[in-house]
Amino acid sequence: MTRRAIRATRGWLGSADAVLDDVLVAWEGGAVVEAGPFRPATGADEVLEVDGFLLPAAADRHVHIELADPAAVLRGGVTAVRDLAWPPERIFPLADLSEVPSFDGPLIRAAGPMLTAAGGYPSVAPCAPPGTARAVDGPEEAAAAVRELHASGAAAIKVSLNADEGPTPGDAELAAICDEAHELGLPVVAHAQGRGQVDRALGAGVDELAHTPWTERLSDDTVRRAAATLRIVSTLDVLGHGRPTPELATALDNLRRFRAAGGRVAYGTDLGNGPMPPGIHLRELALLLEGGLEISEVLAALVRAPLQPGAPADLLVVGGDPFERLAALGDVRLVVRGGRLVDAVA
Ligand SMILES: [Zn+2]
Repeated sequence: MTRRAIRATRGWLGSADAVLDDVLVAWEGGAVVEAGPFRPATGADEVLEVDGFLLPAAADRHVHIELADPAAVLRGGVTAVRDLAWPPERIFPLADLSEVPSFDGPLIRAAGPMLTAAGGYPSVAPCAPPGTARAVDGPEEAAAAVRELHASGAAAIKVSLNADEGPTPGDAELAAICDEAHELGLPVVAHAQGRGQVDRALGAGVDELAHTPWTERLSDDTVRRAAATLRIVSTLDVLGHGRPTPELATALDNLRRFRAAGGRVAYGTDLGNGPMPPGIHLRELALLLEGGLEISEVLAALVRAPLQPGAPADLLVVGGDPFERLAALGDVRLVVRGGRLVDAVA
């Protein structure tokens, strides 16, 4: 198998904080075989030498990819996305297609429809096409829906706990969804909106929140319990699109305390929900800093996976050192997805 490599003047491999001078990453097929300081005898058939900063490519853990341009997302440095709510007959075939190396976009993993109560969010949301919501009535039906989504290739189960915009699944349905999903090895991601909904998610064993909670200031006790069991997908910029808002201030306050309590945060933008650039979203990164993450933590939250043997060969070269200036991630010079060099990066 052909072994390809990129040698860059500087880089970060995604695990330790160390920034290396003269770094080399080599891969065969779609997987990394070597990553570290440059050494002459790499065994690579082709070495591309670039002047720039190399790092793992980004993953966006909350998108609605059909509302965006997948090719532009990829060229903006994001090689993997997770679609959190879309009609199953549209998103699962697209996710399958995205696994083909010639697909001009990121690798797509999908939750399919959001499980909700009859008439609940997002069945009435204006930007959600029919099928984005799936109502479940009773724990048996809820568990059956989870099994069906798993069989369709769902990478996660999304559940709507939006009490501000309609009825939500009851506690019995919620428990059945979590139990069945965990039985099948799938994480449960909740849209928690409205008073007490984060506590309901915690009580049922939800694994992730699709958004930093923004509708109420969480109690310190809730924050502590959340930090021990949940991952939060950030989606901060969608709360203001560049403007300060009370919702954003509440979310930042919750995130700071969640982070201080040791909670895990993943980068996610809710791409497709309002005006937002495709690719790495610099305002989201800046808000993660405001939310109490160090630069190294922001970068760790952003990348798909550290570059090490066996990891996906998904990497970027950008124009500067993001540890010095996060905005360097807006200057993407080169993208490799699954071992394939993406051409025509603007
Ligand atoms: Zn969303």
